[in-house]
Amino acid sequence: MRSVPRARIIGIRALPQVSRSMDRLKSNRRSALMARIHGKDTMPELVVRRLTYFLGYRYRVHAKDLPGSPDLAFKGRKKAIFVHGCFWHRHRCRRGKMPNTHRKFWVPKLRGNRLRDLKAQAQLRRLGWRYLVIWECELKHLDRISARISYFLASSPDNSSRHTVNSRASSQRRDGRLD
Ligand SMILES: [Zn+2]
Repeated sequence: MRSVPRARIIGIRALPQVSRSMDRLKSNRRSALMARIHGKDTMPELVVRRLTYFLGYRYRVHAKDLPGSPDLAFKGRKKAIFVHGCFWHRHRCRRGKMPNTHRKFWVPKLRGNRLRDLKAQAQLRRLGWRYLVIWECELKHLDRISARISYFLASSPDNSSRHTVNSRASSQRRDGRLD
């Protein structure tokens, strides 16, 4: 059977199938694939990019000149979107838990990631930028994510109080783990 390259045709709906098929992969192949996913163009990020493009917005990717190199940067609007993997960036969800094994390695590494995120976000705010964090686990609800992105990008700085929620320390504690 001839298979069409999936990435070209999936659109955004096929994401759950990807993780299902990952289970069937042999473990060595899976770790090779995971390594690739942790690289620059992770799957959740591609989903968000495609979604945002579909909504009619254009952006720069991995803007190196901005703190934290946001995954999507909207220069004219001074807005940025980060797409965070729950494990690597310590989301407050099941996937963001600190592993129980090899803790000497994982604890400083994952804490370091989290602190780096907070620092970059604080720097962005000082530069007058606003940002939205989208967590990997939230991509199950693409309609909600799509609405959040539209609202975030369409809102002007004056009526965006709901989005500056991300700027407050309390919310940082809620959204990601600090411990
Ligand atoms: Zn999560």
